[in-house]
Amino acid sequence: QAKQQGRHRYQLFDSQQARQQRNHSEQQARVGEALAGGELCLYYQPKVNLLDGRIVGAEALLRWQHPALGVLLPGAFLPLIEDSPLIVSVGQWVIDTALAQLAMWQREGLQLTVSVNVAASQLQQPDFAAQLAHSLARYPALSPQYLELEILESAALHDMDQVSGVMQACQALGVSFALDDFGTGYSSLTYCKRLPASLLKIDQSFVHDMLDNNEDRALVAGVISLAHAFGRDVIAEGVETIAHAHALRSQGCHLGQGYGIARPMPAADLPGWAAAWPASAECHAMLQG
Ligand code: C2E
Ligand code: MG
Ligand code: MG
Ligand code: MG
Repeated sequence: QAKQQGRHRYQLFDSQQARQQRNHSEQQARVGEALAGGELCLYYQPKVNLLDGRIVGAEALLRWQHPALGVLLPGAFLPLIEDSPLIVSVGQWVIDTALAQLAMWQREGLQLTVSVNVAASQLQQPDFAAQLAHSLARYPALSPQYLELEILESAALHDMDQVSGVMQACQALGVSFALDDFGTGYSSLTYCKRLPASLLKIDQSFVHDMLDNNEDRALVAGVISLAHAFGRDVIAEGVETIAHAHALRSQGCHLGQGYGIARPMPAADLPGWAAAWPASAECHAMLQG
């Protein structure tokens, strides 16, 4: 009797699991349709020099313009495809779209670097560098120096030698790397030592409370001095207020990105933002004090 109940429960659980699995596949397929149907797009968030206010670049951030749900953030749909080959197709689309945009901005006279986030599984593709070379070759007038790839520390966890080799092959093309969300991984110091990234990106969770939390302030200072000691550049993400910008600058971090400067925006809005920014109250406040 008990055994039978047990089996009954197991079957119930089993069919729930099957249903969840089916939902998951359906949701994955929906992301694939979004890619094919042109519902994905990139927003861009400016990166500025905190000393002179100049715009140095923009980070491409993936969005899904969902016909029923509005603009979805990557956190709502990237996890669905993280373990599927779709993440590689979406990643390839992101690189190609960002390159096309960058080439267009350069033709219009807007000089900036575009950063693209790259997933672990993309970097683990043996032909990643060859694909990138292929994508870059379509824009012969564009110098690859203007493309930067942001990788999450955790992306490298599995095989650092392999990842480091892929990074070197991309660097040989002229492309540079940033370690994103730096300091949040399990082996940040090892990554910094072993991966050829030219930029460390201080995670926004440290920046957020650095004004009133001594430990976060110390972590920010630590990443900045690590970057300096290793000859890497350093940028802070999550610069939400002018006070953050001032504190970072006085600690020796000269690049920043965050809502206090600009929110991510559609590509079409960026040239107007860049033109208006130097005369804006925010920029003046940032440069004073
Ligand atoms: P990330 O690369 O660390 O990007 C920074 C995230 O913080 C973005 O969220 C951005 O909108 C947000 N942010 C920027 N400034 C501020 C601020 O001042 N305060 C706060 N609280 N947040 C700020 P978003 O766009 O939702 O992206 C989340 C993550 O999704 C990204 O984190 C990145 O890891 C991933 N992602 C975005 N686009 C792509 C992509 O094309 N490919 C891959 N593989 N991952 C992507
Ligand atoms: Mg990033
Ligand atoms: Mg980040
Ligand atoms: Mg992040």
